[in-house]
Amino acid sequence: MNMGAIITKSVITCPDCGFRKEETMPEDVCQFFYECENCHTVLVVKGVCANCDK
Ligand SMILES: [Zn+2]
Repeated sequence: MNMGAIITKSVITCPDCGFRKEETMPEDVCQFFYECENCHTVLVVKGVCANCDK
């Protein structure tokens, strides 16, 4: 049984072309940049940082 880091996965949908991909979300990051594999638009994705969730 793995007691290591919690891996949070989320499906990111590109607002430009609608391409969807399941990505592993980094912990304790407010937001990060994600490049769409389909159209190469750089998206700003909200992370799961509880401290910054206002
Ligand atoms: Zn796209």
